[in-house]
Formats: sequence, structure tokens, C-alpha cells
Amino acid sequence: MTIEEQMKLNLYSELRRIYQMLEEELTQLNPGCNRCGACCNFSTFDHVLYASSVEVNLITSNVEVPVFNVSDNICPFLKENQCSIRTFRTLGCRVFYCNPNYKDVLYTIYENYYQMIKDLSRKYTIQWKYLPFLKQLAEFKSEQLLLVGKPNSSPV
Ligand code: SF4
Ligand code: SF4
Repeated sequence: MTIEEQMKLNLYSELRRIYQMLEEELTQLNPGCNRCGACCNFSTFDHVLYASSVEVNLITSNVEVPVFNVSDNICPFLKENQCSIRTFRTLGCRVFYCNPNYKDVLYTIYENYYQMIKDLSRKYTIQWKYLPFLKQLAEFKSEQLLLVGKPNSSPV
């Protein structure tokens, strides 16, 4: 295994550990979600999902991204109103709940985990980009980007 491959494995393993901690915290909080999938149709829900490059990299390295149109403003991983990539879904996917009673506490949790993921990017000296999810996903898909171990990538 090359150093680059080992770094990538370590990075993904740390990111998944962060997601696991988050899931444990959210389970305790239990804001309630019936998994109707409505919030993954961003236009009808009037929602913009942001994601970091490292999270999008985890997705594109593990699953095939279906052909999609950014302008449709629907997540391409939404299949029959269900997320088809739950294991790899982003921080924003995990922390979003439509229950307004939890807005403030979820915002605090989001900020906390956002910082952890940003620190992870710094640790592995990979480029940090934080953009609307669909835009970033389309870029990764078209350029087949793999950020880990690129010699000229720099943390921001
Ligand atoms: S990745 Fe899954 S949870 Fe996130 S927006 Fe897409 S379908 Fe929804
Ligand atoms: S957060 Fe709300 S809109 Fe989104 S899947 Fe859960 S219940 Fe549906």
C-alpha cells in the first residue's frame, strides 16, 4: 500500500469516527425524523445543503455518483424518498431536522462537528472547500478529484 493510500484510509476512518460520535449525540437528543426524504429535495424544501470537500471526497471514493443536474436541485442519492448512501451522508444531512424546537441546539452541534472536520482537513493537509453540496459533488464527478496526498493541495 502506498503512503497516499494509507493516508486516505486513515483520513476516512477518522471522519467516520466523527460521524459515529455525532450519531450517538443525535440519538441521545432525538429530535425526531420519519425519514420522509422531503428535505433532500432542496427546491421544494427551500433548503441549501452545504458540504466540505473532505466529506464529498468520502462519498465519491465509495459510491458511484448517478448522472444528475445541479439545476434540478434534488440530491441524486435520493431514491424512492430514501437516502441511498446513509453511511456516507454529510454532516449537514445528519444534523438537519425539520423540527424547529431543536434549531438552536442543532446549530451548536453542527458548528462543533464542522470544526472537527475542518481540523481533520488541516491534519491531513488537504484542500478545504465548503460549498453547496450539489455544486461540489458535480465538480468531483467531472474532475474525478482525489484530494488526499496531492502535493500542491493546501489547507485554508
Ligand atoms: S446524501 Fe442522503 S441525506 Fe443527504 S441530501 Fe442526499 S439523499 Fe438526503
Ligand atoms: S428531517 Fe423532516 S423533512 Fe427531513 S426526512 Fe426527517 S422528517 Fe422528513
